[in-house]
Amino acid sequence: MSFKDLGLSAEILRAVKEKGYTKATPVQQESIPPILRGRDVLAGAQTGTGKTASFTLPLLHRLQHGTVNRRRVRALVLTPTRELGAQIGQSVRDYGAHLPFRSVVIFGGVSINTQIAKLRKGADVVVATPGRLLDHMQQGTIDLSAIELLVLDEADRMLDMGFIRDMRRIVKALPKERQTLLFSATFSKEIRRLAADFLVDPVEIQITTHGKPADGIRQIVLPVDKRRKRELLSHQIGAGNWQQVLVFTRTKHGANKLAKQLEDDGLSTAAIHGNKSQAARTRALADFKAGKVRVLVATDVAARGIDIQRLPHVVNYELPHVPEDYVHRIGRTARAGHSGEAISLVCVDEHKLLADIERLLQTRLDRRVVDGYAPDPRIKAEPVTKGRSNRPPRKRGGGGRPSESKRPSGRRKRSSRRSAVTS
Ligand code: AMP
Repeated sequence: MSFKDLGLSAEILRAVKEKGYTKATPVQQESIPPILRGRDVLAGAQTGTGKTASFTLPLLHRLQHGTVNRRRVRALVLTPTRELGAQIGQSVRDYGAHLPFRSVVIFGGVSINTQIAKLRKGADVVVATPGRLLDHMQQGTIDLSAIELLVLDEADRMLDMGFIRDMRRIVKALPKERQTLLFSATFSKEIRRLAADFLVDPVEIQITTHGKPADGIRQIVLPVDKRRKRELLSHQIGAGNWQQVLVFTRTKHGANKLAKQLEDDGLSTAAIHGNKSQAARTRALADFKAGKVRVLVATDVAARGIDIQRLPHVVNYELPHVPEDYVHRIGRTARAGHSGEAISLVCVDEHKLLADIERLLQTRLDRRVVDGYAPDPRIKAEPVTKGRSNRPPRKRGGGGRPSESKRPSGRRKRSSRRSAVTS
């Protein structure tokens, strides 16, 4: 379906055309019409499906055709991570290129004063991570009383990151008369509860079946002993002449260690995780996108929202503890119709994690033993500890702040009552 048939304004269609999109993706086809009609929407769609445009385009259209309330914040997008926030902010600017709206992106780990200055000048759209938004709300540096439209992007991830209490506090402070859109890759009981509390008679849209990765991703498991994973990874990158590969580790420490080892192997590598400053993360990502760095090692949270067209290779150096994270990880490749390969290096300790993933996917993944790297059958499984994982334990309504993606190293708490710089 072409964008013209969706009822979007000429200014928005022009911006879409300039982006080079010809056809609306399924989530765009399904979401845009009800959002334009003012309905609440509950959408099951993962990244890579075009979901950002599916809420950004009609959001801009609604602002364009709604009440004239210039330079007051009328639309709020809540998103779990800085990277996603930055990308949504870019989408708002791109798709709104021919509209007069101003947007501000606010997230932690960077100066709050710059954000305050921008907010003072006036903004129509705010894209924010929950923690920093609450900071602004508590300091009285943002006025949300004119909000007409709220988007909760990647709501499942916000729950996983322990943002539930923050989200509830934010939503409670918004006008009741508003349109609310909730996007989530998965629909757990908690998401349903959140939807029941925040949305009114929503139109439900389900683009992917639960946990199903996009078509076009070739998924392969390479069984290997734990101590030989790094060697095998270097071998695969070299033998396959991979020029751009995103590698996932479970921990920040693991990401640093692996990045160093790969550098020692002669592969240009960068690492991104929550202990790196925002500037370092942005630089690493830019170098990776530009092809200056061949390998990017990332933890789950830091990689969230990385959007690279045609990223051909994603490697699970270690399998995630939570099977849904596998789907999120491999969703970095084969985006918007391109094909890609997701390779998992799996040692004997991780067989249970692999079984959990296969149960979620409802499919058995292909195993391929690489010559010279067959696992030693004498090695017995040891439990995979969660000790240094980036993922905080799931909290039901707990107010704890997520441990990842928060405070860049070297940055200390502010003296204010909110100790964490979030996302
Ligand atoms: P998202 O799911 O929002 O993360 O988007 C995934 C990628 O698809 C982004 O790089 C978008 O720029 C791109 N994209 C979004 N909509 C379309 C479309 N209709 N046609 C082609 N590419 C698109």
